[in-house]
Amino acid sequence: SWLRICDRLKGEVGDVEYRMWIQRITLGPLDDDEITLYLPERFLRDWVRAQYGQRLQSLWREENPAVQHVELRIDKKAQRAAKTGDDAPQAEEGGGAANLSISAMANEDAAALDREEAVAATSPSMNEVRNDLAVPLDRRFTFDNFVVGKPNEFAYACAGRVADHPASPGFNPLFLYGGVGLGKTHLMHAIGLKLISRGNISVAYMSAEKFMYRFIASMQSKSQMEFKEQLRSVDVLMIDDLQFLIGKNSTQEEFFHTFNALVDAGRQIIVSADKSPSDLSGLEDRLRTRLGCGMVADIHATTFELRISILEAKAKASGTPVPPKVLEYLAHKITTNVRELEGALNRLIAHADLVGRPVTLESTQDVLKDMLKAHERRVTIDEIQRKVAEHFNIRLTDMSSARRARAVARPRQIAMYLAKQLTSRSLPEIGRKFGNRDHTTVMHAVNRISELMEQDPGLAESVELLRHMLES
Ligand code: ADP
Ligand code: MG
Repeated sequence: SWLRICDRLKGEVGDVEYRMWIQRITLGPLDDDEITLYLPERFLRDWVRAQYGQRLQSLWREENPAVQHVELRIDKKAQRAAKTGDDAPQAEEGGGAANLSISAMANEDAAALDREEAVAATSPSMNEVRNDLAVPLDRRFTFDNFVVGKPNEFAYACAGRVADHPASPGFNPLFLYGGVGLGKTHLMHAIGLKLISRGNISVAYMSAEKFMYRFIASMQSKSQMEFKEQLRSVDVLMIDDLQFLIGKNSTQEEFFHTFNALVDAGRQIIVSADKSPSDLSGLEDRLRTRLGCGMVADIHATTFELRISILEAKAKASGTPVPPKVLEYLAHKITTNVRELEGALNRLIAHADLVGRPVTLESTQDVLKDMLKAHERRVTIDEIQRKVAEHFNIRLTDMSSARRARAVARPRQIAMYLAKQLTSRSLPEIGRKFGNRDHTTVMHAVNRISELMEQDPGLAESVELLRHMLES
């Protein structure tokens, strides 16, 4: 019944709010008339109580009329377990600091827009750390220029929250993750730009690679203390593409100490990576644990709708008219990464300006010929075999083995089907890749899977999921 309540709340408040607040609730003891729900932080507890307390109570009563009261508590145990070591400060009932952020949050700042414009006009601001530690922020990467859709709305909301209220509990660190070109760097810059537009706060942004480079250089020039002091003097530290530190153990160690020093001093940390903290194997466990302690927000692969919205926004900003047909064509053809989508559009517009003729579908196909060809060649049979084997938990070698057990034969057929759908290989070529099978075997597999997909929605979903993963 708790699951049912969660489902209903999700419907009522929407995905973003749900994940930001409700999803962090864990179910505590269920007495006859009192329900206890836990949240990992005082701040979250207060917020959930204020925003959803009444609703939670009435939903529980609908499930069970005997319930008199829904109690929201801070789960100190969960919180402590999430931090490393026993020295982590415990949430004390009674401290008032967390309440501040709530009232500040209620007073949404109406002047923010004006300030953002002001920043755009006065490039490098005083507050942006401009010693040789950090990298300048790109003024184009604002929140306003970020197009929001289902795949990124949660990350966008979290980024906005941190920009408005840095270092509030529950959001520190902010960990953004997702594939290449989906907007991680854009969002980090947007946070930084918004923060410095407000003044009185120092923000440092750099890639993990740059962090390592600075760290090593400081050791070589015996200026480690300076490096540490500079880093630890900022209010907000943003490290982009943290996966770079995999296997770089001493840099990881240094980052871990910087991280702890800053968080303990109430500064905000924002990190991006291509995977979630738990999937970043190769980072030290204690670092991964701490990275997962705040808010973890994922950016999913773009949907067709989002790609269209992004293209519309960028076309509009360019001032050159681009027919909707062309935008749709691009959104269909370039599915992996927004950077490439943007690149294709820019190329079209530049070309149209140069030759003095409008953008049309024909000109698009012509101008982008090479680029689109490269895209079509992207998925290889090897990749398909690897992904499918992984998905069904069978050995890669079984893709070309003679084994005929259903548990391996079916995934093999699915891989053949996907090879036919996603690559331009002929049936005999596909057959060769699957242990020198005959082209009729491949044809049979393709037909069989098409049939099964119509009869079995579960199978159809798996295949679609695989196709999606391979294409993005
Ligand atoms: P990542 O850091 O995740 O690899 P970036 O933030 O560098 O990706 O984004 C790549 C490019 O795509 C940038 O030019 C960025 O402005 C643009 N971009 C990505 N997502 C969006 C979006 N939702 N709206 C507008 N532009 C976007
Ligand atoms: Mg990036």
